[in-house]
Amino acid sequence: MSITELSRRTFLHSVAAATALSASGLVQEPEGKINQVDEVQLSQVHGTSEQNEKAPGPFLPTDQRVGFAIVGLGRLSLNQILPAFGHSQYCKPVALVSGDREKAIKIAGQYGIASTSIYGYANFDQLAKNPDVKVIYVVLPNGMHEEYVVRGAKTGKHILCEKPMATSSREAKHMISACKEAKVRLMIAYRQQYEPHNRALRKLVTEGKLGVLRGFVSSNSQEQGDPTQWRLKKSLSGGGCLPDVGLYCLNASRFLSGEEPTEVMATIFQPKDDPRFTEVEAGCSFSMKFPSGFVATCSTSYDVHKSQFLRLEGTKAWADMSPSYGYHGNHLKWSYLEDERETEVVPQIEEKDQFALEMDHFAECILEGKTPHTPGEEGLKDHRIMEAIYESGRTGRIANVAD
Ligand code: NAD
Repeated sequence: MSITELSRRTFLHSVAAATALSASGLVQEPEGKINQVDEVQLSQVHGTSEQNEKAPGPFLPTDQRVGFAIVGLGRLSLNQILPAFGHSQYCKPVALVSGDREKAIKIAGQYGIASTSIYGYANFDQLAKNPDVKVIYVVLPNGMHEEYVVRGAKTGKHILCEKPMATSSREAKHMISACKEAKVRLMIAYRQQYEPHNRALRKLVTEGKLGVLRGFVSSNSQEQGDPTQWRLKKSLSGGGCLPDVGLYCLNASRFLSGEEPTEVMATIFQPKDDPRFTEVEAGCSFSMKFPSGFVATCSTSYDVHKSQFLRLEGTKAWADMSPSYGYHGNHLKWSYLEDERETEVVPQIEEKDQFALEMDHFAECILEGKTPHTPGEEGLKDHRIMEAIYESGRTGRIANVAD
């Protein structure tokens, strides 16, 4: 490789890296209302050829942080959300809601939460009287989101709700109106919309680097085992792989393109002889047509080895994220023709805690009176599209997405 080509590649690489890094800050710098404690400066011990090590921060002091009550102490709460408070700039856990008090006492001890701030589902409404709680984060099975968002709104606290928002668009509408009526903010936890690689890809699109978008191809699939788990019971899940993991492909196609699909065509697979899939689908493939002519083709399954990727195709370039959708390890690259050579760029993007980013965004919205980037209406749109996907799967015909 010639020196000129090498330096051109290095230049392209650093431009792409800078683009990606600046794109990673979805959560805008606070506009002066939040008084943060400066980050601690660490002395440089490595040589000049090594990356400088930075201490995390700046942070809000504990007494100014937004207090969260975590509702449901399952896998997501214990393995992702609670640890993420350690990476958060603006949030702190102050209360727990669980049906298992013994487990809650152990977790409360781990995170410095007072035992007087542990609640059960029956006395959940008592959160209204806890002044430390500003946000209720609902991390329960999907079929319980509506009840706990509506009851939560009545306590006067702001609500962060896990995805999928609910089990139907009817429930989602009820949740939005309950929060409006109670004058509290509602955000749906679409973590990938706060994640740096996804933000960098969206920025490539808005800057026109990919040209006009024509296609999106994606899969988010995994294997489910235990047939008794709530994810395979329709009343608690709302459906099988589609609302759980397929939703990521659907939401990414809308977020990355900035467009809304109008028509869908789907094939749904529900084997008759597998005890896991007596109530919900095992697989679903769907195509979505957008007004500009952009088409998203997605597949999702509960019966294959974990597979997670997306590819966005434009008139000037393609971009690929494989793997995508995970908590860690997203890998983005994009490719275009320059000087008659295909030029592939792998932007260097710092991995960040997606749960800390999404919680900090909501905290900022509360502290500064802003509407969240992914409000309840974002969840409602996805439910309307999923309902069209199920309709198409049932009828074998193209289905229109309801307004
Ligand atoms: P989980 O099964 O690990 O935890 C669910 C919790 O709800 C448990 O503590 C369980 O005891 C409690 N619960 C209360 N009533 C229950 C009932 N009737 N049946 C079953 N459980 C009951 O589930 P999870 O993986 O933590 O998922 C919780 C929510 O988070 C779901 O909405 C899921 O879609 C969402 N989720 C989001 C992500 C993400 O990346 N954003 C990842 C995983 C899960």
